[in-house]
Amino acid sequence: MTLTIATTSVPGDLESKLSAIASAGFTGIELFEPDFTGFAGSAEDARQLAESLGLKITLLQPFHDFEGLSGVLRTHTFDRLESKFDVMNALGADLLLVGSSTHPDASGDHLQIKADLAELASRAAKRSLRIAYLALPWARHVQTEMAALELVRAVDSPNFGLALNSFFSLADGSKPARLRDIPGNKVFHVQLSDAPKLDYDIRHLKRHFGMLPGQGGLNLAGFARIIAKSGYTGAWSVARIGDTAGQGASSAVATDGYRALVNLLDEVSRSDPSLTFDVPHLPKRIHATGFEFLEFACDEKSGAILTNMLSTLCFRMERRHVSKSVELWRQGAVNIVVNTEKEGFAHSAFLSHGPSVCDMGLRVKDAETTVERASALGAPVFSQPVGTGELDIPAIRGVGGNVIHFIDEKSDLHRVWDIEFDPVAKTEATPPAGLRRIDHIAQTMKYEEMQSWMLYFISTFDMKKSSIVDVADPSGVVHSQVIESPEGEVRFNLNGAESRRTFAGSFLADRFGAGVQHIALLSDDIFETSAHLDTAGFQRLEISPNYYDDLKATFSLDEAVVDQMKACNILYTLRDGAEYFQIYSVPIFDGFFFEIVQRKGGYQGYGARNAPVRLAAQMKHLRPTGMPRQ
Ligand code: MG
Repeated sequence: MTLTIATTSVPGDLESKLSAIASAGFTGIELFEPDFTGFAGSAEDARQLAESLGLKITLLQPFHDFEGLSGVLRTHTFDRLESKFDVMNALGADLLLVGSSTHPDASGDHLQIKADLAELASRAAKRSLRIAYLALPWARHVQTEMAALELVRAVDSPNFGLALNSFFSLADGSKPARLRDIPGNKVFHVQLSDAPKLDYDIRHLKRHFGMLPGQGGLNLAGFARIIAKSGYTGAWSVARIGDTAGQGASSAVATDGYRALVNLLDEVSRSDPSLTFDVPHLPKRIHATGFEFLEFACDEKSGAILTNMLSTLCFRMERRHVSKSVELWRQGAVNIVVNTEKEGFAHSAFLSHGPSVCDMGLRVKDAETTVERASALGAPVFSQPVGTGELDIPAIRGVGGNVIHFIDEKSDLHRVWDIEFDPVAKTEATPPAGLRRIDHIAQTMKYEEMQSWMLYFISTFDMKKSSIVDVADPSGVVHSQVIESPEGEVRFNLNGAESRRTFAGSFLADRFGAGVQHIALLSDDIFETSAHLDTAGFQRLEISPNYYDDLKATFSLDEAVVDQMKACNILYTLRDGAEYFQIYSVPIFDGFFFEIVQRKGGYQGYGARNAPVRLAAQMKHLRPTGMPRQ
């Protein structure tokens, strides 16, 4: 069994594609012929290049418009086929992907199609090659895998089998169960790709390629399980993926593809232990039970701005690191670390991104197991020199270079604050404002990075994604994807910005890359919290008075309550009888801000209805174009 990826999924020239594919962990490739045509060397050179990287060329693709032609067209097609066979021999590839014909002159006569495919099989047999026949949904006559199977059965040759593509089989809403009748020994190749859950007329999808397994909504685990159970022993291949998904660096796309494939096959073998795949052993997906801490990288000036805002949020500086310029600010179960060291990871994060969140601690059941799963899925393990009295906490690098530490209760790790930090004598007693824990964290990134982050979280953790919501920013659209742990203890909002003129886009441009843009803190009584924040001098985002007129008109709320919300700049929404209240801070650090939320009656969303109002208010704080950052 080989884990392969189509070379067309990965950007770059053939050399960079193959080296990215090999270092991601794949053992084979589907060679997309134009990638070979653009290669400067011979077929033997390509073969040697692949072999030197430990990659098998499992298949050459595509061969189009073969069956159903007559006269000169037919003769020419067979000549084309023989020259392709020559190339395959030189490449050391024994399998050719033939797509069902889209040729306008292709005959629909079943007998002729069968005769052509039988001739194809016998010519392949003479050269010791094999054909994987793929039904293309937009083909002239053979449009489904069941129609292709009928032809494979009729031709009845060991050199002629079926290629299956999950996107083609499932994107029209079909269930994988109908594939149960396909015998495994007739399947020569399997391509995996996902798609958003929409009602497609799949015949129109010719130019829309799929997403990586797990990024869309298709039942790929069901698809792979049925094929594996049928006795299929060939390659599992990540098929060509769509334009937005493939825009990253070649190494990032290959790493994502490998992570998606291994995660999928792991899920299948977990659901049916009789099925085993040649993938690394993985601990099961990790249940994250909360945020233990968030760490900001700052210099002295930005550190003062941040700690000032934390003070006005009624946080208290409780501890100081035993040997470093690092402070712990705390309220309820929220731990915020402010790191103003002049060296180490936080300082380099500060130098590349400005003041920002550089590290986060997730509470998990077993930290070592978490790192084991994440690193088997291709996430780099992070470590930095450990000083006296410091603990070596397991950590990995997140997708954007941020660090994620894992804190568990099995070892000393949960006592990190007692061991690494000294208590600070309390000079003044700030009463807390009732902020209990972190409700959610919003990370902003380029739209194409969003799919990558999502895949990282859902493959490593027991988290679910919900469908993407488009938020209208006054200067463009921001795509927002929610990822949550089963009980909602850990919630991420991933925001993908397309235009740098949006508030999110300008955040990205100013800080040179993806990062945490807001932290939402949970209160059980937002009005009481609001009163504490007033006393502490908290600077909140001012909301347009028009918003409150609209609230009165939209929801049947008591006028006095709306007036109170207006006085406190509280945003409100109601859905299915559940309520959500929000207060925002003014933005600091080129667009970073805090949010205070209250969920009432089991509200599960994030106040998407209020996003345009909030964004309009935030835009007023944006630095005008051309003004240098501070
Ligand atoms: Mg929010």
